[in-house]
Amino acid sequence: MKLNPDELFYIDNKLFVFDSVVVKLIEYKDKYGIVLDKTGFFPEAGGQKGDLGTLNGISVLDVQVTENGIEHFVSCSIEVGTLVHGELDKELRLKKERNHSGEHIVSAVVHKLFGYNNVGFHMGEEGMDVDFDGSFTKDELVEIERQANRIVRENVAVKCYFPTEEELKRISYRSKLELSTPRIVEIVGYDFCACCAPHVSTTGEIGLIKIVDCYKNRGNTRLTLLCAEDAVEYVLSVCSDADKSGAMLSVKPYSVSSAITKQLKSNEELVRLNAELKHSISLEIVSNLKASENYLVVFAPSFASKDVLNKGLELSQKGVCIFSGNDDDYTYVLASKAGDMRGLATSLNQTFSGKGGGKPTQVQGRIKASKEQIEKFFHNGEKE
Ligand SMILES: [Zn+2]
Repeated sequence: MKLNPDELFYIDNKLFVFDSVVVKLIEYKDKYGIVLDKTGFFPEAGGQKGDLGTLNGISVLDVQVTENGIEHFVSCSIEVGTLVHGELDKELRLKKERNHSGEHIVSAVVHKLFGYNNVGFHMGEEGMDVDFDGSFTKDELVEIERQANRIVRENVAVKCYFPTEEELKRISYRSKLELSTPRIVEIVGYDFCACCAPHVSTTGEIGLIKIVDCYKNRGNTRLTLLCAEDAVEYVLSVCSDADKSGAMLSVKPYSVSSAITKQLKSNEELVRLNAELKHSISLEIVSNLKASENYLVVFAPSFASKDVLNKGLELSQKGVCIFSGNDDDYTYVLASKAGDMRGLATSLNQTFSGKGGGKPTQVQGRIKASKEQIEKFFHNGEKE
């Protein structure tokens, strides 16, 4: 993007209304492109969408740098020579300034602490994605946030200027782009960076910086950042959730994770005890059955263990069929010392929309049937 220091958005970063003249009108199929002799609308550039607002009350849908200059896209034509009154969506512009300056601060802190470069930037509706050529631990992310927010609290000046070639030689600045007219954004005392976008006047305007995500992206590390009111809303929502979780666990919100760790440990113990109990009950059930010449059908609370199976096999030469579960969802194990249980399994699966498989002497599976239906299945089989 060729930068023109005379554009209104460079002269005054807090100019939200201005007057200008239409110098070019470009007609497209479904829209019009308006070029003004000067504009306060910053066009889309460097990962940031253009400003929105109105020209003579007509909505500006997008602003782009094209071969015609800075084109304001609108749905109605405005003739060349028309005097126009431009009004920016002030809140949107301020939000972009806070976000973009917040990103510069985080990138400056990362560069100072770790020497990593910002290699990609995108400002979306919800937060910004910033890519770095290095990775971070959780503790390092906390330290980045801490230092970035300290710079916000110090409320230092943010200066934007076009240095002469001589001045530029003396400045060591971060840069992603080879700009033909370098514009420097200086966070006084902390950072120099080449950048074409409007910024806050002092860091205090940003209010709060929050890193809300960190993940690997194409060999780099992507941080998702929120600034200002977006960061405040995020923190409020996380705190509110921690409050609710704390109330459920009867602890303070900042103790939720240790309370959950304790709870998970006790759950593990309960799961272990439950499995032991189910096993004992299953063994008890099979031990109390009488020997059978037919299949020994057993309904037991736990999925058949070796002990339970062996006990069953002692009671039936033909085979033992153990079912465990609830109505419409039973897992089964069919076992025999020497017989082939696969035919019985196929029949069960076909009758009750089941699945399963295994070796001839032991087949496992799952069927959709009630206890009554299973009992009936075996009862009818006996008759045949
Ligand atoms: Zn920038």
